[in-house]
Formats: sequence, C-alpha cells, structure tokens
Amino acid sequence: MEIINCKECGRLFNYLSGPRICEDCKRKIEQKFQDVKQYLEKNPNASLDQIAKDNDVTVKQIKLWIREERLILSSPSPDGILCEKCGKPICTGKLCEECKKEVASGLQEAFKKPDAPVEPKKKKDNKNRMRFLDSK
Ligand SMILES: [Zn+2]
Ligand SMILES: [Zn+2]
Repeated sequence: MEIINCKECGRLFNYLSGPRICEDCKRKIEQKFQDVKQYLEKNPNASLDQIAKDNDVTVKQIKLWIREERLILSSPSPDGILCEKCGKPICTGKLCEECKKEVASGLQEAFKKPDAPVEPKKKKDNKNRMRFLDSK
C-alpha cells in the first residue's frame, strides 16, 4: 500500500490499484457516468463537447469511458477517439478492428515461437511502455 495525492481533489489516501484517485472521487465519477448514460439515452447524437458541457464532465473523462468500452460513439470521427496503433477514428475501445486482429494474430505468433530470445527485448518494451503512460 502507498499513500498518494488524489489526482482529482488532491487529498491524501491509501492507494491500492487502478486510477490514482480517492474513493470519494471514484464514486463521484461513477455517478457522472450514470448521468451521462441517461443523457445519451435522451440525446443519442450529442457531440462529445455537448455531452461534456451539459453534464459538467471533461471531454477527457468521456474519452476515458469510451476507451474502457463503457461508452460507444454513434459514429467514428477524427475529433472523437482514434485507434492507438494506426490513428483511424473508432467508436470505442483502444484499437480499430484491423489492429485488434493484427494484435491477436501477433499474440498467436508469439505463442508459436516460445524459444525466441525475448529477454533483452522485454526490457526495451518496458521502457517504451513507461514513456507511453507518461505522455497520456
Ligand atoms: Zn479525490
Ligand atoms: Zn488501427
């Protein structure tokens, strides 16, 4: 366990795992999610900006929910969310259908070749991943 500042309200709390925010803020965000869900039922064609403004949430938060596949855009658009691999507009998740397939077959490849020397490569991957998270 680790004591850190909540990213939302700045309060110190015991951090276990997941998003670096306290229980109170997590609950508040969950409540917002329900608001947005209801709002979308009434306004299925609302734009991201509109949803953010009408529900008092950030576009960033809405995009996070889309990345988590809790929300789905009615149609892909360049100012919505983009595939993390090829940059194509998508409706939900992190990758477009093609990249998902590519990743899936890549994983199968990896399983097929268990003798490949993975050690030095692994280290480099970890570094890249760190940098990637930082830039978010
Ligand atoms: Zn908080
Ligand atoms: Zn893609």
